Amino acid sequence: MMTTKHSSRRHVPVLIIGSGLAGCTAALTLADAGLEVLLLNTGDTLTNGNSEMAQGGIIYRAAQQDPANSAVDDAYNLAKDILVAGHYYNSRKAVRCLCRSGPKCVDEMLVKRAGVKFDRNADGSFNLTREGGHSAPRILHCADFTGRAIMDSLTARILEHPKITRLHKHAAIDLLTSHHHAKKSQYRYEVTNRCLGAYVLNEESGEPETILANWTVLATGGVGQVFLHSTNALGCVGAGVSMAYRAGVSLANLEFMQFHPTAFYDERGSRRPLITEALRGEGARLLDANGMPFMLRHDKRGDLAPRDIVALAMMEEMLHSGAPCLFLDASQVNHDLTTRFPTVFETCKKTGLDIRKDPIPVVPAAHYFCGGILADIHGRTSMRGLYAVGECACTGLHGANRLASSSLLEALVWGVACGQDIARKINTDAGLSKTLASAIPDWQHEGDDRRDDPALVAQDWASIRHTMWNYVGISRSKARLNRAFTDMRDLVRHIHDFYKHTRISRQLVDLFHGSQSAYVITQAAMRNPVSLGCHYRTD
Ligand SMILES: Cc1cc2nc3c(=O)[nH]c(=O)nc-3n(C[C@H](O)[C@H](O)[C@H](O)COP(=O)(O)OP(=O)(O)OC[C@H]3O[C@@H](n4cnc5c(N)ncnc54)[C@H](O)[C@@H]3O)c2cc1C
Repeated sequence: MMTTKHSSRRHVPVLIIGSGLAGCTAALTLADAGLEVLLLNTGDTLTNGNSEMAQGGIIYRAAQQDPANSAVDDAYNLAKDILVAGHYYNSRKAVRCLCRSGPKCVDEMLVKRAGVKFDRNADGSFNLTREGGHSAPRILHCADFTGRAIMDSLTARILEHPKITRLHKHAAIDLLTSHHHAKKSQYRYEVTNRCLGAYVLNEESGEPETILANWTVLATGGVGQVFLHSTNALGCVGAGVSMAYRAGVSLANLEFMQFHPTAFYDERGSRRPLITEALRGEGARLLDANGMPFMLRHDKRGDLAPRDIVALAMMEEMLHSGAPCLFLDASQVNHDLTTRFPTVFETCKKTGLDIRKDPIPVVPAAHYFCGGILADIHGRTSMRGLYAVGECACTGLHGANRLASSSLLEALVWGVACGQDIARKINTDAGLSKTLASAIPDWQHEGDDRRDDPALVAQDWASIRHTMWNYVGISRSKARLNRAFTDMRDLVRHIHDFYKHTRISRQLVDLFHGSQSAYVITQAAMRNPVSLGCHYRTD
């Protein structure tokens, strides 16, 4: 590998930050094209993000009588479904790109290259399922653990690839840029700012390292964990958005956070497993803390009202009653729950609940971030040398709301596109010169050796999560957002000060990223007075 390494400093051709579906796909595309890749993540294995938790599936194409036409017809219908779900706030270019190249990426990267065994029918054809908002059955799945099946196959290919170096338990702290970090003043006067890699915390040594890269790809996933209730993996604190914001990279659509109405509530954990909406479809009913049904008070369709209306009604019930959660009664469902809903059954069983008779404690939860780092159809951002792919990016595909099962496909399509774009450029762009690389200093410890205080960190997280949930959550108003803005602004200042004078740690890095991503989401929600899709204003 073309890695020049001395002490905690190295220079690589391509640095990919994040190893979910988007990061792994970009890495494999680049490595297969002959490039050396450094892939890093915060977990102790490759998989610790949202990708392996995906249950439903990934969009493919609808099966039709005439396979020669199915791709064309379904690309058109799929585009329509994505636009309707996104309230026509989408980028048409991104929608076209996904609909046209999606099936090919699934065939070539997932089926042929990674060897994912999607469920098939007796005749060998793919078993395609349908989800809410889709006009045809076009979702590929592996039972209800599609994300895990995809990531297991993909990471097996990554592990055996000689061109991919992996660094686990490494958390990116900040992007390196020519304007902000180069110690020679000539770089500050160049019109274009360039990304030169990142400062990264090696969790094992506790030391920050300097990773210089000709090309840097952000694939850090979502931001759900800045909200009190979230289905997201614990590391989803918006690291990419926060680093891009500090580096002056363009962000977009940050107010559009999609909430899922039913996630399992367990006061001991901060991640909330999904409770599928199909349970309500089969007759399960939402109950308030007194065991009474309430949905008919909010909508004449009752428990079968659309996802956003149910989430909003639940939020209002909880705010008015002060109850920490509501309940889903599945005892009337006319199926064997152990075989029809095995994942939900097992999740609840682990906490001592038998969903055949016990009501399931549920809350709505932050689920998917439609906004992020503005990226074009190749994943290029507004900063030279920087790409963003997957949930941390905003390609405009989802517009104001996401169509079910479109995010895995987006991570795949843009992972491939970004890998191909860098592979093309690397032959014509020499990358960082030695002079520029040597102008970048290593991380400076400004503070003393004071350690972070876990009580302060926990309290700051509690403030962020409660503020975001109550004021920037499912329903937003001017008064709530103003209050959130001042609270978050003060907290960010305070944390920044704390961060500067305390020895860096993983807890601090996450807190810093989380507070900044929460702050920029709050500002975006304040700036947009119009309710649309998953940004709901009560005023
Ligand atoms: C419960 C659940 C179910 C879902 N079901 C579906 C579904 O059925 N279909 C669908 O299309 N979508 C689904 N989604 C959404 C989908 O899973 C995600 O949008 C997608 O997997 C995001 O992939 P990603 O590669 O962008 O990020 P992730 O898979 O989240 O990976 C993020 C990576 O970034 C790394 N990282 C984060 N911060 C740092 C840092 N500071 N430094 C270094 N590394 C960092 C993490 O370690 C991780 O490797 C679901 C999401 C959830 C939460």
